[in-house]
Amino acid sequence: MKTIGLIGGMSWESTLSYYKLLNEGVKARLGGLHSAKVILHSVDFAPIARLQNEGKWEEAAVIIKEAALSLERAGVDFILLCTNTMHKVLPLITPHVKTPFLHIAEATAKTLNTHGAHKAILLGTKFTMQESFYKEVLNAHHIDVVIPDLKSIEIINQIIFQELCIGKIETASKEIFLKIIDDLKSDDTSIDAVILGCTEIGLLLDQQSSKIPLFDTTILHVNAALDRALKNF
Ligand code: GLU
Repeated sequence: MKTIGLIGGMSWESTLSYYKLLNEGVKARLGGLHSAKVILHSVDFAPIARLQNEGKWEEAAVIIKEAALSLERAGVDFILLCTNTMHKVLPLITPHVKTPFLHIAEATAKTLNTHGAHKAILLGTKFTMQESFYKEVLNAHHIDVVIPDLKSIEIINQIIFQELCIGKIETASKEIFLKIIDDLKSDDTSIDAVILGCTEIGLLLDQQSSKIPLFDTTILHVNAALDRALKNF
């Protein structure tokens, strides 16, 4: 089994999901006392969130690069950056790190392709929804992306940072997400998927609450990692 490196803490609420899902996945695939080989480098999220909001992405990238290099020194086989948003700075990091990263949007796009989905609502932080770094990976896999209007983007972003990232799971917020999804779907009936493009949204929404298939990026990232870690094992 390969050793998986996790860069976590963004937020730690969703890093917990990664650790649990990786171990549940190894148990499901190998049984017995098997568990995932994982090395976690967990960062302090507060300074990173501040740098995001100040637009100081290069400085945030340095923190992620140092985390990746520490995992590399520890001998991991590949790395998961356990946040969609910080994939924005991946191009600043990969030239300095030999160990491969498993890209969360790539893993997501491949699964949508397998399911034959063509047009997806993308929900995530305002950076993930509004900027091109994430959408262009999906587009490269022939997936059209629909994002909410500006007001809804602000509301979703607020729920992510002021609730989900600090472990607050509110029914009212779940209803807000579901209404945003429903409204977008009524405007465009060709939408056939919803991407939970923030690693905490799966803590709020589950498939039972939505008529459209939900693709949880945390789960898809983990599944891709399990495939890679257990290949030929
Ligand atoms: N975990 C979130 C994501 O998947 C948001 C935290 C962050 O800004 O990195 O994008």
